[in-house]
Amino acid sequence: MMELAICHFPSFCQLNRNRPNMAKCDQGYLCEVCGVDVPEITDSDLYLRLVIGEISTRQLMTAPERHIRCNPIQAQFIVDPQFEPVVVTGPLDKRLLDPVDVQRRETLVTRGWLRLKELAGSGLPFNEYPLPEFLPDPAARPKPRPE
Ligand SMILES: [Zn+2]
Repeated sequence: MMELAICHFPSFCQLNRNRPNMAKCDQGYLCEVCGVDVPEITDSDLYLRLVIGEISTRQLMTAPERHIRCNPIQAQFIVDPQFEPVVVTGPLDKRLLDPVDVQRRETLVTRGWLRLKELAGSGLPFNEYPLPEFLPDPAARPKPRPE
């Protein structure tokens, strides 16, 4: 199994639990937009992009971290009573986009955000983070149930 030598979220990361002295685990990752630490996976735009298949586990190491709310273009598609809605003004306001695309996007990004809430404290390895259809290893995908 591929093991990644990074740890964004020491509070739940399995790597960190196994190797508590790993230096990288002690460093917070900073949001490239506001410059403040991203403390929890449920605030992480980077991990949201991972679970919805926009980046691979390898790209976790090089892609910039942001707070979910610091990337409003993406965050506006999270529709959940537990998430305070984000409103975008300008040409990328979802109210100006094709409603069918918007609904597809809302379904996906909201599922991704709910997945982050599931992952917090789960201890799952990185390669099992994505939603089932985006898992990197086809063998690890859930089997279709027989009718
Ligand atoms: Zn931020």
